[in-house]
Amino acid sequence: MYDVLIIGGGPGGYACALRAAQLGLSVALVEKRGGAQASLGGTCLHVGCIPSKALLDSSERFWAARHDAAAHGIVVEPRLDLAAMMRRKQEVVETLARGLDGLMRKHRIAVLAGRGEVLAAGRVRVTASDGRASEHAARHIVLATGSEPISLPVLPCDGERIVTSDQAIAFREVPPRLLVIGGGAIGLELGSVWARLGSAVTVLEATEEVCPFLDADVAAALRQALTRQGLQIHCRVRVSGGERRGETVLVRGEGPEGPRQWEAERVLVAVGRRPHLDGIGPVALTERGRVRVDEQLRTSVPGIWAIGDVVEGPMLAHKAEEEGIAVAERIAGRRPLVDHDLIPSVVYTEPEAASVGRGEARCRAEGRAVRVGRFPFAANGRARAAGQSEGFVKVIAEAESDRLLGVAIVGPRAADLIGIAAAHLAYGGSSEDIARTCLPHPTASEALREAALAALGRALHA
Ligand code: FAD
Ligand code: NAD
Repeated sequence: MYDVLIIGGGPGGYACALRAAQLGLSVALVEKRGGAQASLGGTCLHVGCIPSKALLDSSERFWAARHDAAAHGIVVEPRLDLAAMMRRKQEVVETLARGLDGLMRKHRIAVLAGRGEVLAAGRVRVTASDGRASEHAARHIVLATGSEPISLPVLPCDGERIVTSDQAIAFREVPPRLLVIGGGAIGLELGSVWARLGSAVTVLEATEEVCPFLDADVAAALRQALTRQGLQIHCRVRVSGGERRGETVLVRGEGPEGPRQWEAERVLVAVGRRPHLDGIGPVALTERGRVRVDEQLRTSVPGIWAIGDVVEGPMLAHKAEEEGIAVAERIAGRRPLVDHDLIPSVVYTEPEAASVGRGEARCRAEGRAVRVGRFPFAANGRARAAGQSEGFVKVIAEAESDRLLGVAIVGPRAADLIGIAAAHLAYGGSSEDIARTCLPHPTASEALREAALAALGRALHA
């Protein structure tokens, strides 16, 4: 009888396991990836955050060597070795996976290799890759089964020419033309990778603007920056169908100017992910098909909890981790809560785009009177020195109280800067609090301080 048995070894599941073990609970973690030897880390480590960031970092170096080095007085003629870039990516993944195995051993967490299936509250069957099944009892079960890519019925994936991110992080050659359906995080990140490596990339987005989860001004600035880098981005496009034509794929759709078609060697379908419901047992689902939980992350069945991509909220690794920790602490009798408004979003393109809290449009839709401060990276010394002066920081505060409501950034190091903003938001800070935080010079972080000063009407450098 375990205290906690977790199904799914992604960032939600393994964080829950580690925290529960720290709190003195006996823990089992079930993972089906990897066959007889469970491979922990989930989507994030194996086919998501980490491999995509490894490729973003490598391709950014290639792009910079080609396009920026000369401006810095460096003369190089870079040549791409894609196989080496892919090997490096895989080594990064494997090193981190070994690290997780070590952490599980250190915390005496029982890792059970196989497919977990909830039979009833407190009972789980694990079926190993060789078909052998075992039954396990636990006081608490945590569902952390994650998500999988959504495919388009009008353009089914074949895994070769029409692919999801699982394949687009592992192409063996640079596709001459890549058509990306979906201008969200995956579409823009992997679109950027292949564009930097030489593909002619076209992105088709169904809504008004790319990345609908970002502040609208930041999303528009990001689209403009990527367009300047050569990506062709079309918004308000509905894909209606398509088919393979030998080595290429023909895709049909309807844009603002009427019907159109596109041809490409590869098509990446990146229109979102859906919850992975395999083995979850008799728990209730939401209208959107995710596992229904209350604010404590309890499902409809007592003793069964659920976290991460399989429940509502942003599908992000740090959100899954936060929920994993919260559930472990709840089981141990503590009372943490996860606030989705404090979960930052980042798109790791160049420039990066990031936001936390409420966007300006949402504040206005909620009828809040706000003060908005903006500061351009063009007036930031470090951004100028680095030659990365595109973009701006936007600070949104409640007009009367000055309470911080949200921060949105497009520009250099946005992913790191948003962490400072998230900390201020979490502590209930104001724009005055950011404005009075002494930040190091010369850094991009000074732009955050200046945007807070701008919200108060006293920016120094603009
Ligand atoms: P998962 O990571 O999906 O893990 C679930 C695990 O459960 C899997 O290992 C699966 O094999 C296992 N499992 C499922 N069912 C069973 C079963 N019945 N029995 C046993 N095991 C089972 N997020 C970020 O925050 N930052 C990023 O930069 C980022 N980049 C991404 C890039 C890409 C290309 C993709 C696809 C995603 C990215 N994400 C990113 C999203 C992130 O990967 C997910 O939000 C995160 O992995 C969710 O964690 P999870 O633990 O809920 O589920
Ligand atoms: P997403 O929700 O970020 O973006 C999907 C995009 O596709 C949206 O802009 C949507 O409007 C559009 N879309 C939907 N249907 C369409 C259609 N038929 N035609 C054209 N466009 C369509 O999803 P994603 O990019 O697939 O990523 C999946 C999940 O993984 C997301 O929840 C995301 O948060 C996560 N992820 C996060 C990161 C990161 O944090 N940097 C990176 C990659 C993935």
